Amino acid sequence: MSERLAVGCHLSTSGGYERMGRTAVDLDATTLAFFTRNPRGGGAKVLDGQDVARLRDVLAAHGFGRLVAHAPYTMNLCSGNPETVAFARRTLADDLERMEALPGNYYNLHPGSHVGQGVDRGIGLICEGLDATLEPGQATMVLLETMAGKGSEVGRSFEELARILDGTRHDELLGVCLDTCHVSDAGYDVAGDLEGVLGEFDRLIGLERLRALHLNDSKSPCGSRRDRHERLGAGHLGIGCFAAIVAHPLLSTLPMVLETPNDLAGYAAEIALLRSLAGERGA
Ligand code: FE
Ligand code: FE
Ligand code: ZN
Repeated sequence: MSERLAVGCHLSTSGGYERMGRTAVDLDATTLAFFTRNPRGGGAKVLDGQDVARLRDVLAAHGFGRLVAHAPYTMNLCSGNPETVAFARRTLADDLERMEALPGNYYNLHPGSHVGQGVDRGIGLICEGLDATLEPGQATMVLLETMAGKGSEVGRSFEELARILDGTRHDELLGVCLDTCHVSDAGYDVAGDLEGVLGEFDRLIGLERLRALHLNDSKSPCGSRRDRHERLGAGHLGIGCFAAIVAHPLLSTLPMVLETPNDLAGYAAEIALLRSLAGERGA
């Protein structure tokens, strides 16, 4: 394998976009994730175009793969409250417009929580929200994240994600981001049967839809529906799971984002670990 993994971690935009890119380079990352705005609020700073242009230069100079931006947690396209739904749609549209300054990257979205309205109603609202917001020709692909199934989260099964993709007019603008902690917590045995899980994904969604990975170990056993991330190798998935992922011909080319409980030194160590598991020289 001559290509390097596109691996990185979630980073803060608080020091600016160029600074975020330089931090990623220091960690030997080749992708990164960031919140497009305050993850627990709504506000977003106006983008500084020059700062974003300098980030693009940093990424190009260091051979980065696609970035995987993350939508704020407060966005719920299938809330029971119409104002919350309207806010989520406005925020999604605004974020996608801002992402035009970083064309060709991904925007990761939690499909939503149906808050007692039922999965069918939830999926219907998510599809309506996506149809109302996505624009043909936009420079960003929106990725639906596989969810752990905590509370009333929609997207905890491949069937639910497939129903969302089938129910929108803009499915060419949509893909899936597989979170290893979430799928395990949702009951898919990625650690014990990676090929079986991918086969199921392919049958229901299609592997060509799989565009990015969140690499997290899990504090909880398979099927727990808890969504508590752990450092790689310290949880129920174990290091063998991640070794199999970075060695997998279909997965090793996808952007891989760490969302493990770590400081920057911890992320640098996990990035180095993944590179060494992939057999990269100098890793
Ligand atoms: Fe997420
Ligand atoms: Fe995730
Ligand atoms: Zn999570």
